[in-house]
Amino acid sequence: MREAHPFYIAIVGRPNVGKSTLFNRFAGRRLAIVDDQPGVTRDRRVGEGRLGDLHFRMIDTAGFEQAKPGSLEERMWAQTERAIDEADLVLMIMDARAGLLPEDEAFARLVRKSGKRVILAANKAEGNAGAAGLSEAFRLGLGEPIALSAEHGDGTDDLYRLFRDAIIARDGSLDPDEIDETEEAFDPEIPFEDDPTRPIRIAILGRPNAGKSTLINSIVGHERVLTGPEAGITRDSISVDWMHYDPSGAGRRVVFWDTAGMRRRSRVTDEIEKLSVADGLRAIQFAEVCVLLIDAQTPFDKQDIQLADMVEREGRALVIGINKWDLKVDREEVRQRISDVMQKSLPQLSGVPIVMLSALTGKGLEKLMPTIVQQYKIWNTRISTGKLNRWLGEVTERHPPPADKGRPVRLRYMTQAKSRPPTFVAFSSRGHAVPDSYLRYMANNLRSSFDLTGVPVRIFIRKGKNPYD
Ligand code: GDP
Repeated sequence: MREAHPFYIAIVGRPNVGKSTLFNRFAGRRLAIVDDQPGVTRDRRVGEGRLGDLHFRMIDTAGFEQAKPGSLEERMWAQTERAIDEADLVLMIMDARAGLLPEDEAFARLVRKSGKRVILAANKAEGNAGAAGLSEAFRLGLGEPIALSAEHGDGTDDLYRLFRDAIIARDGSLDPDEIDETEEAFDPEIPFEDDPTRPIRIAILGRPNAGKSTLINSIVGHERVLTGPEAGITRDSISVDWMHYDPSGAGRRVVFWDTAGMRRRSRVTDEIEKLSVADGLRAIQFAEVCVLLIDAQTPFDKQDIQLADMVEREGRALVIGINKWDLKVDREEVRQRISDVMQKSLPQLSGVPIVMLSALTGKGLEKLMPTIVQQYKIWNTRISTGKLNRWLGEVTERHPPPADKGRPVRLRYMTQAKSRPPTFVAFSSRGHAVPDSYLRYMANNLRSSFDLTGVPVRIFIRKGKNPYD
């Protein structure tokens, strides 16, 4: 299946930022050039890439670096545009040591315009020389840059995580063969311990005028974010770093991603519609927890549903905020509408917490942060293999999977392969014979048995016996 639909990553950026080094690194020793465009130019290379257990195809536009100076510009653009066009994911590279150059901004515009999923990497970030460039990279409006050293291999962990998220997002699931149980970072036997010094990354999503900027201002407590009619003012940063103190006085670092700020910048380039979906996606990718802010006066239109669904598909934790609760709205009607939409259009999100609030008056806000932290913890849940298998025994006994062509289907063993969101692999004698309806039954039961309320849960069935027998 993977063969039929390779995952394409375009590596783009101005000359000499390190694209080829990275390409060669992913290609490893098997530098298998798939499409060398023989006889035409070497402007564009396509090669098989690997990162850990992930397999993909890379499109590299490095060739034009050797182009004759006069022809450079045009060919560069044509090749880059074509590469972006073909890609499932764009990896945009800038040089952290050289800092941000006008050419980088031109490339960023091209990437943003495409609406494609993007990862921004600041290369050559090793050592102090890279720090300034890294912070400048934020200004490209392509999300949080990752610090990379193609030469030394730094930043590979981040790339791995982001590549994997992107593959899951495109294919709806990760090929179970690509879940690597040897991944050192994850051991279901080690309980999750929240590290309060690590910021929780939060994206505030919602339609224009839902009150996103007002909400961030209100939480942060001062006018860090611009609101009101002067829209169009650009800000240096689209993220707000902040410390949240709970009633006991314990501090928790958080970073808010402000999509309203992004929208205002995009207005300058007149591409609001196209960018708003891409911006939403980018914010969701950045986030660990997403807050979908909905205006109580016009609850749940198509765009709200689309955003909520994107959050689920990307596997992020979600909290829904119903804003402007201070206004005269028919509260019963709003509640009814929310519950109808959740049931009909978003059944996969049942149990997602909903907080009624007023960003303007601050009412209800005290419930928001604790809810975010709670969902963040659930999203990080680890369930020990012992507990999981006792549970598996009980649910399959109570309600066994339907037989396949007259033969019983047995689920023999289950383990958690990763968290964020909780992802499980069960082993079966007849792998693909377990229907989706049964997986949903398992997921729902798992949610209620282990308090995984309101976060996405993934279950994969792998053919085979207990690998640890
Ligand atoms: P954004 O586009 O989502 O960032 O929305 P803004 O934060 O700019 O808010 C849009 C408008 O809604 C502004 O006029 C705000 O004053 C107003 N607004 C935001 N939150 C509330 C609220 O809780 N209650 C009321 N009554 N108005 C609000």
